[in-house]
Amino acid sequence: MSLAADIARKIMDAVDARFDDQVEVTADLVRIPSTRYKEAPAQDFMARLYREQQLSVDRWQIRLDDIRHLPGYSPLQQDYENTWNVVGAWRPTNPQGRSVILNGHIDVVPEGPLDMWQRPPFAPEVRDGWLYGRGAADMKAGLVLNHYALLALRRCGYRPAAEVYLQSVVEEECTGNGALACLQRGYRADAALIPEPSSHALTVAQVGVMWFQVKVTGHPVHVYQADAGSNAIESAFRLIQALRELEKNWNARKSDDAHFHDHHHPANFNVGKINGGDWASSVPAWCTFDMRVGVLPSMSLSQARREVEDCVRNAAARDPYLGNSPPALLWEGFQAEPFVLSGHEKVRAVLDAAHRTVFGKPLVDERSTATADNRFFGLYAGIPALVYGPRSKDIHGFDECVELDSVRRITQSTALFVAEWCGLETA
Ligand code: ZN
Repeated sequence: MSLAADIARKIMDAVDARFDDQVEVTADLVRIPSTRYKEAPAQDFMARLYREQQLSVDRWQIRLDDIRHLPGYSPLQQDYENTWNVVGAWRPTNPQGRSVILNGHIDVVPEGPLDMWQRPPFAPEVRDGWLYGRGAADMKAGLVLNHYALLALRRCGYRPAAEVYLQSVVEEECTGNGALACLQRGYRADAALIPEPSSHALTVAQVGVMWFQVKVTGHPVHVYQADAGSNAIESAFRLIQALRELEKNWNARKSDDAHFHDHHHPANFNVGKINGGDWASSVPAWCTFDMRVGVLPSMSLSQARREVEDCVRNAAARDPYLGNSPPALLWEGFQAEPFVLSGHEKVRAVLDAAHRTVFGKPLVDERSTATADNRFFGLYAGIPALVYGPRSKDIHGFDECVELDSVRRITQSTALFVAEWCGLETA
């Protein structure tokens, strides 16, 4: 890379010098439970962090009326009161180089059964070089490393020569509407970097993700005459089996997909929630289940949606009761399009050089069977958005953790990337 070796070394040393502090701050952030609708105090924490670095802080409440008309919006029937985004901006007086967005999400997924965690999920702990806790990897380590990468430049007496926007957004885990709200507010840059846990690889293609809910009704009777009734839970079970067949069908079509043709199972369906019935001796009159489906880049969301609807309709028609009482299907939560990086050669080259300096080997391209906020920048604003982050274990499971040495090195490569991409001026 063109960044002089001695400057690169100085920047990497500056990351090392503050790394203990960085781990402590990450643990402090993990300690604030920020599951969806409870992110506000964690966002206040991020705003304080940005202010300490003398960034100008923009903290605003998301209003659905501002974003619901935009492409990429995902509907969610929930209260957006107390939903805040935070951006810390570094704006040079005379910007020279190329600007960058360093993005991350503050929301974490629910912690699940507490008794399955070795330690409480919001009591972070360092063990054998890994930081444990809900959100430690996905992605509070990333949010905090963005901040420390910028801080390392400052500690070396430099400032980026172009605008740098540190973004902490809500709702990456169910819609992406937080990242969308940043676009709506007007934030743009020449590139975006998102340190989601990626094991040091660059995500170049990812599936789309859709959520839907199926409401199944039954005919309730006392079980002694069960054959006169219709069991909503068993009907739901038959619909789920039909959807599983659709999953096989979608995966069989991977051979047409330029990015996932050799992936063993790219389109994953998941029944994530199920509720139904109220009494062991009553045939249940209702059952509701929520499903997540993965959509290959070679398919469109509208095509995928049609196929899901056809599948449920056909399965219901074969069902003894549902034929006359079809289930309701509601598309809510993620309606995330598949995303394939393009036009990212220049920014990739700069990240590759930074990565080589730190890791001593070339950057590897990877595909992802999950989605991330990068799609908003790429699809709706033409900004090359790179997902590149640390090594993790058990995200969305229990005993989630992130490898600290990996976090340290991704902080270094992020700092080197910003230095090279934006250029440096002396403070
Ligand atoms: Zn994430």
